Amino acid sequence: MTTKHNWTKEEVLEIYNKPIMELLYDAATVHREYHNPNQVQVSTLLSIKTGGCPEDCGYCPQAARYHTDIEGNDLMSVQQVKAQALRAKSGGSSRVCMGAAWRNVKDGPEFDQVLEMVRTINKLDMEVCCTLGMITENQAHRLAEAGLYAYNHNLDSSEEYYKEVISTRGYQDRLDTIGNVRKTNVTVCSGGIIGMGENIEDRAGMLVALASLSPQPESTPINALVAVEGTPLEEQKPVSIWEMIRMVATTRIVMPQTQVRLSAGRTDMSREGQAMCFFAGANSIFAGDKLLTTPNPDVSEDMEMFKMLGLEPMKPFVKKAQPESVEAQYSKYKDQGEKPRWTRPEHKIERNEQAKATAKAAKA
Ligand code: SF4
Repeated sequence: MTTKHNWTKEEVLEIYNKPIMELLYDAATVHREYHNPNQVQVSTLLSIKTGGCPEDCGYCPQAARYHTDIEGNDLMSVQQVKAQALRAKSGGSSRVCMGAAWRNVKDGPEFDQVLEMVRTINKLDMEVCCTLGMITENQAHRLAEAGLYAYNHNLDSSEEYYKEVISTRGYQDRLDTIGNVRKTNVTVCSGGIIGMGENIEDRAGMLVALASLSPQPESTPINALVAVEGTPLEEQKPVSIWEMIRMVATTRIVMPQTQVRLSAGRTDMSREGQAMCFFAGANSIFAGDKLLTTPNPDVSEDMEMFKMLGLEPMKPFVKKAQPESVEAQYSKYKDQGEKPRWTRPEHKIERNEQAKATAKAAKA
């Protein structure tokens, strides 16, 4: 079956706004054509370096400029990461996703340490994903050689609304990083967040942007904003379960082969709500009691829910063979000490400026 890449915003909106029963039926039908509806992939998200980020993403408690009670941490050791990965594996996870609060990857000892983490987890026969900010083509190759399975870099929202949330890098930077990952055999994980104040057109715009990538992302996280105190988006109202179901179902229809991930915001969803999302085509969750810094349901609760719904955790490497890890000394791609020039649009976003000023006043 050929995948459609030229969705228009109008077509996507038409799907999103269908009567819910029709939307669910259509999405579930597509889901069954491409996936086993009783299997859900389970990932564990690990914050390997927390807080102190120079970016100004309006939703993020890890941005240094806002006043949140996040405890910052330096880069974890390889041994710490290995211990956490083994714990995740015994809890049913097939993938570990390592997140670092960086603007972009810098060549040097810290990146070398991350590459060693990738090799270590890959050798545990788990899928390894990283989300480290913007990366160059050479860095993407180095991650691929270490055995990386997926790289996450979200588009967050539509190109138009992105400018209302982030001023320290542009949409094109996001697309360029995804393009760099695509030059390797690492799969792409890219999605976004709903509930940031965007309208339905923006949600459709984001899906058009993701669906027009060729190939489409192998994995697409759909996050519901977790409004954290101290961030510019602290007062956003939670999204309703119906918005989440509509977004999941629409994503499933426009990107039939992607793994649609139920990500942040699951603690506010009932089991019935989550079951509807699985029916609408979600086939992945993040497990573990924390999603980087925000709360997430306990693993045992998730496994209980799986049992109740007759779902089973997907085994690793079902979609793509396990990459081989090349040891550092045999690597073809070397540390280039690059100082890539990612853009800094630096337009002003009033609510981000206000949150920054409040944080400054609180620290004074
Ligand atoms: S989302 Fe990522 S890049 Fe943006 S502030 Fe948070 S850690 Fe930094």
